[in-house]
Amino acid sequence: MLKQATGILGGTFDPIHFGHLRTAIELYQSLELSSVRLIPCYQPVHRKLPIASPEHRLAMVKAAVIDEPALTVDACEIERATPSYTVDTLENLRANYPDTPFCLIMGIDALLGLASWHRWQDILTLAHIVVAHRPHYQLPKTGVIADLLKQRLQQSPLCVHNALSGHVILQPVTALEISATDIRRQFASGRNPRYLLPNRVYEYIKKEKVYSIG
Ligand code: ATP
Repeated sequence: MLKQATGILGGTFDPIHFGHLRTAIELYQSLELSSVRLIPCYQPVHRKLPIASPEHRLAMVKAAVIDEPALTVDACEIERATPSYTVDTLENLRANYPDTPFCLIMGIDALLGLASWHRWQDILTLAHIVVAHRPHYQLPKTGVIADLLKQRLQQSPLCVHNALSGHVILQPVTALEISATDIRRQFASGRNPRYLLPNRVYEYIKKEKVYSIG
């Protein structure tokens, strides 16, 4: 008997913002997940190094969800302190939770780059992939990701509870065109990014001078 599926949202969270949090909470509701685990990476492998330290990024994620029981924080990648491969994280989670379907949540931007991820095909033996719609991204019509969608795409989002892994779901979420890059730029140039991210995170960044120069 399988347990209720759990969502997994990894990211640099440099910093976490309402785009991440709305996506997590809307998918928690629409897919009837038991919770969504937010997993800040230690060192991303597909992009530039984060500006904020792992400790600051973890503290910001914790501050963001402190009053929301549906969203939990998992520090496993930061505690591992090695380059953060999603497949390693999923293998560890699978060892600890053998009966829980996992839904790896990603934006379409992340899906488009999936074929460059370490052991990307193994990811679908460990989890489902739930793709959150975001503005300005089109699904590919040819190539490996298009083939993957042809083979794996399921129409019913609740099918994630019936198998441990292997499905791809496309799920609309409220489109919030917020990016961590833009928020960092705003802090660094003395502009005010309030209301793009939780107030507790905003206050933490100001207090700890996470993105200020000098
Ligand atoms: P950066 O601007 O530094 O690239 P980011 O805002 O895209 O950062 P990440 O931490 O890299 O944030 O993203 C983690 C995950 O959240 C990815 O799967 C990404 O697709 C998704 N995501 C990022 N921004 C949004 C948003 N505004 N709405 C929905 N999902 C988002």
